Amino acid sequence: MKEPILIGLLQNAALLIAFSMLYQSVWIKNEATKGTSTKILTGFVLSSIGVILMSTPWMMVPGIAFDMRSVLLSVSGLFFGPIPTIIAMLITGIVRFTIGGDGLWMGLVVIFSSGSIGLLWRRFRPNWKFNNYYLELLAMGLAVHIVMLVSTVFLPSDKIFPILKTIALPLIFIYSPATMLLGVLMFKQYKNWQNELAQLKLKEAERRFSQILESGNVVSIMLNNDGSINFCNDYLLRITGYKPEEVLDKNWFDLFVPSDLREKLKELFFGSITIKEFSKDYENIILTKSGEELYILWYNIVLKSDSDEIIGMASIGVNITESKIHEKMLKEKNIKIEAQNEEYKKINQELRIAKNHAEESDRLKSAFLANVSHEIRTPMNSILGFSGLLKESDLVNEDQMRYIGAIEHSGNRMLNIIDDILTISKIEAGTVEITFSKFNVNEQVESVYELFKDEITQKGIDFSYINGLTDSEAFIKSDSEKIYAILINLVRNAIKFTNHGSIKIGYVLKRNSEPAELEFFVKDTGGGIREEQKELIFERFRQGSESLSRNYEGAGLGLAISKAFTELLGGKIWVESEEQNFALGKAGKTVFYFTIPTEVKNIK
Ligand code: ADP
Repeated sequence: MKEPILIGLLQNAALLIAFSMLYQSVWIKNEATKGTSTKILTGFVLSSIGVILMSTPWMMVPGIAFDMRSVLLSVSGLFFGPIPTIIAMLITGIVRFTIGGDGLWMGLVVIFSSGSIGLLWRRFRPNWKFNNYYLELLAMGLAVHIVMLVSTVFLPSDKIFPILKTIALPLIFIYSPATMLLGVLMFKQYKNWQNELAQLKLKEAERRFSQILESGNVVSIMLNNDGSINFCNDYLLRITGYKPEEVLDKNWFDLFVPSDLREKLKELFFGSITIKEFSKDYENIILTKSGEELYILWYNIVLKSDSDEIIGMASIGVNITESKIHEKMLKEKNIKIEAQNEEYKKINQELRIAKNHAEESDRLKSAFLANVSHEIRTPMNSILGFSGLLKESDLVNEDQMRYIGAIEHSGNRMLNIIDDILTISKIEAGTVEITFSKFNVNEQVESVYELFKDEITQKGIDFSYINGLTDSEAFIKSDSEKIYAILINLVRNAIKFTNHGSIKIGYVLKRNSEPAELEFFVKDTGGGIREEQKELIFERFRQGSESLSRNYEGAGLGLAISKAFTELLGGKIWVESEEQNFALGKAGKTVFYFTIPTEVKNIK
């Protein structure tokens, strides 16, 4: 090779290397931000290199100069794209035009075809970088230079053949590989830059990640496979009160997890390591150095090595202690409010009941007052009436005795009413006294029988009694007066409400109850009591019929007094009754029972 050719080649090579450096230092680095003006500027720089290339040619054939513009423009088309390449093509074209000479048209065609082939390659083989890029570049170099060989047709005809002969081999064996080499060089630069960029990005991501882990109000830890602590951030140390050396390499579960949860969480952790999956998020308690409980909401990530082996767990946790405390307080408050509400509801209900009671009592008291005045007026009128009659002088002895009897009966009736009123007010005031003494209960029953025998038999009703114990056994310890009063009340009622049939009184011993008790009864064959009245009649002022037009005497106090006395003696009182039904021709019957606790020591 002749010396000038060598120099030309070297010069061209140096320029192409400069061109590749332009690509590396200006183009690749700003790839993302390139605007049209940069592209135009690059086009001018490329044009300058092209022009300089054209001004350092070598003569292969006298009168025909050669340079490496074809290499430059094709590679430029491939790497820089349309705007810079077309500008370079235009400017180098214009310069070539001004130079003129025999090779003018071929020179222009080469400029146009090389740039265009580069651009077309870029457009239609966008993935050339990814497989066999050496071959791709060589193929493009060959394409460019075969077209260049063909473009010798634009030379003067006498020069075509000698030039073709001279340039064919260099174009195929030097220019085409040169194109490939330049392309490879630029591609490598591109690759290096990509790697550099990736590393920068990785570093930045790492920096950000560790910044997040280190700072903020987020707990972050990394645990090794055995549960030991590989990393923990400042925030965890701050909220738990530990120093780094007290934490690092220690077992997480032993140090931070409350003992009652420890085994369960360890099991969960090691289980997760085995199946290579952690539950993504869950909430649990950790302990500070001083033993306080903190609530943390964790988010877990599995850490894997390149070979996909699990090397531990990274967890990020949010400290939700404050909100937990608030939540707890709210719950407690809620419970209190609910309890208070319940209380208010109860009070309300009680008030309603009390109000109803008050209204009811009020109504009953009015009925009672009316009753009482009726009950006092009736005997009073009869006393006054008969006393008036007694004044008459011509009375026969028999009439006198009848009037006196009527006055006596009315007086007794008044006395009973007044007695009942006094007793009920004592009961209400809680001043009724109970006097326990030993007495024979058979005597009590018999004296009640004696008291009412005449009155009842005169009414045409059978009257009998049954004692449940022998006279020698019938000694009990209780308040005999009260038992007597209860029996009298019940028998009076029986007489009042019975017109025929029988009245039976008595008692039986109930050994099976605890304690043993005497069960008294007063049984009659009167009208009976309606089902809905059976409870009510034991309330004070309550009567089966609360109207004044009823046929019976009484202020509605007898059963209330009997109930109060029975309960004071430790027993209970109730009634069993069947109402009389005229339509069915069915007789009524009523049995009042009351019990008195007793000892069975002396009873056989
Ligand atoms: P009073 O007899 O003064 O009305 P009590 O308290 O003794 O008051 O009785 C309440 C009510 O119980 C009576 O009004 C009557 O309706 C009912 N009663 C009580 N004893 C009997 C009975 N042996 N047979 C039917 N009803 C009775």
